Amino acid sequence: MPELPEVETIVRDLAPRLEGYRIARARLAKTDVLRRVSKPRLLRTLKGNTIEEVIRRAKHAVFRLSSGHRLIVQPRMTGSLVVYDRALTRDEAKYAVLTCTIDDGRLLVYRDVRRLGTVWLVDEKGWGAYTSRLGPEPLEETFTPFVFAERLKGTRAAIKKAIMDQRRVAGVGNIYANEALFRAGIHPLRAAGRIARARFVPLVESIRAVLEDALEEGGTTLRNYVDGDGNPGYFRLSLRVYERTGEPCPRCGSPLRERVVGQRATYFCARCQR
Ligand SMILES: [Zn+2]
Repeated sequence: MPELPEVETIVRDLAPRLEGYRIARARLAKTDVLRRVSKPRLLRTLKGNTIEEVIRRAKHAVFRLSSGHRLIVQPRMTGSLVVYDRALTRDEAKYAVLTCTIDDGRLLVYRDVRRLGTVWLVDEKGWGAYTSRLGPEPLEETFTPFVFAERLKGTRAAIKKAIMDQRRVAGVGNIYANEALFRAGIHPLRAAGRIARARFVPLVESIRAVLEDALEEGGTTLRNYVDGDGNPGYFRLSLRVYERTGEPCPRCGSPLRERVVGQRATYFCARCQR
């Protein structure tokens, strides 16, 4: 968490408010979130740079700067990106990890209570390397049943683990992998490479549908997730199997089961998912 729908919700909210605006100065309170960049280089690069575009790649929010650098934020469990048009309260300031002062006085704050998230800064070349390591975006047209089946050919890993592997398809984590497999009627422990080609049609459709449905609801609220305005998402109410162990399957009524796959809790219906 957050996964694709939550980060996409944040990015869609931030983009119109930040694109074209210049960062007057930046402040970093803690360095343990940094990847691939030192504090002095981060602050030096941000200062005076203009945010040209705010996009999402996999589960990361990406700020493309006029210098060609990308500031990449992965909020993980407890992080969020918030724009303030006022000074921070003392409580807000306590968890503000990175604060960028926009030249109109607003603040773009990456806050992270437990600092499980990460902040990267890469140049054009670093961005190319970063994005080429990630799989296709599931909501883009290039993600087809054929493409996905090819990527999973010969894979012995459980299908659920393969869906969560960012190199095979980007942006899907534990919640939506569970939900997509339920909708597709595929058992989460089935070896990815042994799934019949024809079943990739409902699988890809289900991955898309579950992400799009969640996006419509503004993402799922678990723990500390909030969008760019600090609002929680509402998709949690629509989850059909996630964290519903023992509850009746919404399709057949038999009790939903829970197993650990690759150290992650896995929820499924043993009757509907084969
Ligand atoms: Zn069932």
